[in-house]
Amino acid sequence: MIENAPLPFTDDPLDRDFWINARQRRLVVQSCAACGEMRFPPRPMCPHCQSENVAWQPVSGEAAVWSFAVPAPPLLPAFEALAPYVTIIGALAENSGIRMAGLAVNADGDATGITAADIAIGQPIHIDFLDASEDCTLPCWRIGPRASAA
Ligand SMILES: [Zn+2]
Repeated sequence: MIENAPLPFTDDPLDRDFWINARQRRLVVQSCAACGEMRFPPRPMCPHCQSENVAWQPVSGEAAVWSFAVPAPPLLPAFEALAPYVTIIGALAENSGIRMAGLAVNADGDATGITAADIAIGQPIHIDFLDASEDCTLPCWRIGPRASAA
């Protein structure tokens, strides 16, 4: 948990469904209801066919590290308290052109102790969710593939 961090507005009609699903620990990606192409971040119009018809597509949350960074000071005070930490841009398994940024966390949902040495480009990661406030659940990335449910 990042105390006092600036959080995204979660009640915009454009991406409200993304945040509602994140609250339920489901990752969804906006897609075009006309041509089916996925897009992220959410936009009002499909860049492929210009349709304004929107659908939300559930995805597995499995991904690979596309890039990562260890933000260096000076940081905003809310993030300074968390430093050092790693942020990852993950490329989704369903569509590697869909890339999402998130905090790197361990199995306890904690960013503490993860360093750049723990992460490599292309490494498997999977989505997790951090409740940042009553209204905002932030997707974040756990290192490694999701353990099987069995
Ligand atoms: Zn389209």
